[in-house]
Amino acid sequence: MSDDKQVSIGLECRNCGCRHFYVDGTRAAKNQIIRYRLCRNCGKRHTTVERIVSSEQDKVSIYGKKNS
Ligand SMILES: [Zn+2]
Repeated sequence: MSDDKQVSIGLECRNCGCRHFYVDGTRAAKNQIIRYRLCRNCGKRHTTVERIVSSEQDKVSIYGKKNS
């Protein structure tokens, strides 16, 4: 289970509605992970922030954020 390039996380492309993204980059912050994703269908870039909830490190909630 090492293929994280084509994950589907419920994020939907705001441009075309596609739900499949390539991970273009990852930044780890204090208790959140920022990922840059490219839509497989139209190539639009999105930024998501995954927050680590309390102390359960494998439980994250994901927020999609428009990246101009
Ligand atoms: Zn798209």
